Parts: sequence; structure tokens; C-alpha cells
Amino acid sequence: MNEKTADLVKGLLSKPRKIVVIGHKNPDGDALGSCLGLSLFLNSLGHLSTVIMPNDFPEFLKWMPGVDDIVVFERETKTATELIEQTDLIFTLDFNSLDRVGNLQPYLEKSDAKFVMIDHHQQPADYAIATFSDVAMSSTSEMVFHFMAALGRTDKLSKEIATNLYTGIMTDTGSFQFSSTTPTTHRIVAKLIEAGAEGAVIHQNVFNTNSPERMKLLGVALNNLNILEEYNTAYITLTQKELDDHNFKKGDTEGFVNYALSVKGIVLAAIFIENKKEEIIKISFRSKGDFSVNDLARNHYSGGGHINAAGGKSSQSLNKTIREFITILPRYKNELAHAF
Ligand code: 5GP
Ligand code: MN
Repeated sequence: MNEKTADLVKGLLSKPRKIVVIGHKNPDGDALGSCLGLSLFLNSLGHLSTVIMPNDFPEFLKWMPGVDDIVVFERETKTATELIEQTDLIFTLDFNSLDRVGNLQPYLEKSDAKFVMIDHHQQPADYAIATFSDVAMSSTSEMVFHFMAALGRTDKLSKEIATNLYTGIMTDTGSFQFSSTTPTTHRIVAKLIEAGAEGAVIHQNVFNTNSPERMKLLGVALNNLNILEEYNTAYITLTQKELDDHNFKKGDTEGFVNYALSVKGIVLAAIFIENKKEEIIKISFRSKGDFSVNDLARNHYSGGGHINAAGGKSSQSLNKTIREFITILPRYKNELAHAF
């Protein structure tokens, strides 16, 4: 973590501040873990920090320490906007540009507060007075630990903070399997466990609380799996009707795309999910090796993310989106040829 930037933030935090901590739309384990972990840390230093999320998050994350104090902008718009108006400092975590916060964006753009970014996505935007950006990091939650260390205050690592950071690291590394998981990641995780994070309990809470409907929806998704052998590509589709038939709840499709990626020889995997309310097809991409789904999502789907995990959207119908996807692939044929 850059010393000069850390000193700048130390200066900003040298007296008690009103702080808002914000994660991206459709927050995942890392967005929640990093925001809650940081906010609890800032409060322990005597600041008055609140987490605001653009919209609701999945049930399987609603046990995390501090979730009940999160202000959800979509539900509590007035409280959220008042907090933003009155705050001195805004920490934005686990996203790289202000268009990732949905309808919160205009409120952030007109705020006079000073911004601090902590994030590990590619191509960070330049809106913060202090930017901690490191695309090599396993997760933003790991970066929050580094942030605490840069401030010299790891003594404040409570069980609650440790549990949040562990959850974020665990979910963003696919339970410590992705190549972003370094020896340092494991050293930090060891410290989190020493501070009280209970890995087995966290794993149980996140992964073993499936509803029968979700399992059946997974069956539908797997049945809809398509393989494009020529391009080492596998994709899954889910229509709004298929979601409705299985009482779809936020988060139910989390991880489905990984089944497509797990097929032998597959380099690129995608899931296309129809969202009638937002009139979009939400897309998740995953890849193996050097194939950059960040580039693919940026170039064709108004999205982005990491080299091996990214997301985007299409405003065409599901069928048309798939047809277009298939016409885009020949452009990447050489890069997709390196079967993994
Ligand atoms: P997921 O596919 O799990 O939703 O997201 C994979 C990664 O891509 C995450 O790091 C997420 O933040 C990022 N991502 C997902 N959707 C979008 C999007 O629409 N725009 C951008 N810029 N990033 C996205
Ligand atoms: Mn993340």
C-alpha cells in the first residue's frame, strides 16, 4: 500500500469524521465484507461510519456482522441521500468507477465529500483524492486488512471485522482456489482466524443454506448448458420464466457460471440471465488462463471486472444477445484456441 497515499488518509482521519462506506450494486461477499470490515474498523477509531449499499443483497450474506446497520439506498433513499449530503468522507470499495453504484451515482457525483477508493478491479477511475488500487489483490477485503496495517492499527482487528474480511476473501477467491490467492493472502487469513473468524461456520453460512428451488434452478441452468467446441466456450441461459418458476431470489444464480467453466477444455464461460424488470440481460463471464473477460465485457457489454471474472449487460432480447455473442467469438478465435 502506497505510503504517501496512506499518510494522506491518516491525515484525513486524524480527527473524528462522519464517513460513508459504499459498495457496488448487487453487492457480493467481498463488497459486503470489505465495507462492513472497514466501517467497523473506522468506528473503532472513533469515527462515525455508516455502510450504504445501492440495493439489496442475497439472503446467504445476511448473517454478516453489522449487516443490520447497512442503509440500502433503494429501500431507504432519504436516509441514504441525507447521509451522503452530511458526510466528510466517502470510501468507495470493490468497484472502479461511479457507474457501478446504479441510481446512487448522481448523489455521489454532486457530493462535496472527499473520496477514498479501495479496489482491485482493472482500470480504476480517477475520482478519489486517495486511490488504493491493486489488481493483483485477491479481494478488496484483503486490501482492507492492508489498509488497517498501513494505518498501524491491526490491534483493532475484532472478531466481527475478521469475520467480514474472511468472508470477502473466501468468496472472491472461490474458497482460496483462484491464482490471486497468494502466500500473503493465507498469512492474512491466518491472522483473521486468530482474531476469531470461524472458517467452518462462515463456509456453512455462505454455501450450505441453499433452498430446494435454487437447486432445481441449477438443474435447469445445467440443462441449458451449451458448448461451442470450436471456441472452447460454454454458456448457460436462464429466462425470466425459468427464474419465476423457481421462486428466484437475489443471489440464487451466484456461482452457476463456474459449472460452465469446469467443463474440460473450456477457456471462456458465460451465463446470460434475463431480467424483465430492468429490461436487460445480465451477463457473467469467467475464463481460464490469459483470456481477458474484462476486455470482452468492456468491448461488447458495457461492463468490466477482472481478467478471469467480469460482468456486463445487453439491452437486446435473450435470443438476440446469444446470436450476437456467437458472432463476436470468431474475433477471439486465436486467443480462445489455447485450451486449458
Ligand atoms: P459477477 O459475474 O460475479 O457478477 O462479477 C464478476 C466481476 O465482474 C466482479 O468483480 C464484478 O464486480 C464485476 N462486474 C460484474 N458486473 C459488472 C458490470 O456490469 N460492470 C462492471 N464494470 N463490472 C462488473
Ligand atoms: Mn472483489
